[in-house]
Amino acid sequence: MTTTPYTMTPLRYRVVARRPDTADVVTLDLDPLGSPVQSWAPGQFTMVYAFGVGEVPLSVSGGEGHRIVHTVRSVGAVTAAICVAPVGTVLGVRGPFGHGWSLPDRGDLVLVGGGIGLAPLRPLVRTVMARRHRFGEVDLLVGARTPDDLLFTDEYDRWRESGISVHVIVDRAGRHWSGQVGVVTSLLDRLRLDPEITTSFLCGPEIMMRVIARNLTDRGLTAGQVQVSLERNMRCGYGVCGHCQYGPLMVCRDGPVTDYATAEPLMAVREL
Ligand SMILES: Cc1cc2nc3c(=O)[nH]c(=O)nc-3n(C[C@H](O)[C@H](O)[C@H](O)COP(=O)(O)OP(=O)(O)OC[C@H]3O[C@@H](n4cnc5c(N)ncnc54)[C@H](O)[C@@H]3O)c2cc1C
Repeated sequence: MTTTPYTMTPLRYRVVARRPDTADVVTLDLDPLGSPVQSWAPGQFTMVYAFGVGEVPLSVSGGEGHRIVHTVRSVGAVTAAICVAPVGTVLGVRGPFGHGWSLPDRGDLVLVGGGIGLAPLRPLVRTVMARRHRFGEVDLLVGARTPDDLLFTDEYDRWRESGISVHVIVDRAGRHWSGQVGVVTSLLDRLRLDPEITTSFLCGPEIMMRVIARNLTDRGLTAGQVQVSLERNMRCGYGVCGHCQYGPLMVCRDGPVTDYATAEPLMAVREL
């Protein structure tokens, strides 16, 4: 039996695997101890509770069956507690919440992930791989601060083998880096786009999403063909507490994924 997401009661999940990805990012596999949450879609998030510390929204970065995978960057008290949780730790999980990515039936796809923003795109990549024959050009642009901050690097070859063009760029190169250096927009400039048939999916710092979305719309995509994943502080997860209000949106309920046509006027307002 699965339970409705619209509750404040967390369900108990046990950490069954823990993989450090970078110095401050960890991926955790979580299995339910009792009733699982409802099945999730790529781009959705859950509220994860570190008992005695607090609860935070985390995008689902993978998982099959009742298993949920989260990839977490340690930035404060709760994410730090989740990142150090050893195998066997019990965490609370509510959700899944919000709207995920809306994948078209066919056409070209451009996915752009900056930093931890690659986490919610990873399940979308896997869905695309499973239906790869339906799509034309599929480009995944990955940006990170340094080579050591790149996520899921051991999966890039598999993604490439399935016909996804993976382009990687870092802000600052290390001594052993022979790849591209610069901002993720410079990767975009080199792509040949067919605006008629392209859908784009962006997740990363808001400034990155704004610049990329503007670049794409300047090149002929409509704002409706560009999807962005929004972030705001959240509490309830289902649109009743108002913590994540963003103009007319409750990001937890109306997002986190929304099209740029909806997000653009909000992103244009400073400090909204
Ligand atoms: C829908 C959604 C999905 C998310 N998915 C992931 C994910 O998959 N992996 C991941 O590592 N993080 C994700 N986050 C961000 C994560 O929720 C925050 O990092 C977390 O809430 C910080 O809590 P804390 O107690 O550890 O730190 P805090 O002490 O609360 O914050 C530490 C710092 O992070 C900033 N911060 C806190 N919350 C947010 C936020 N929501 N957005 C931007 N900055 C914030 C604070 O202003 C402060 O500077 C997601 C956020 C949202 C809204």
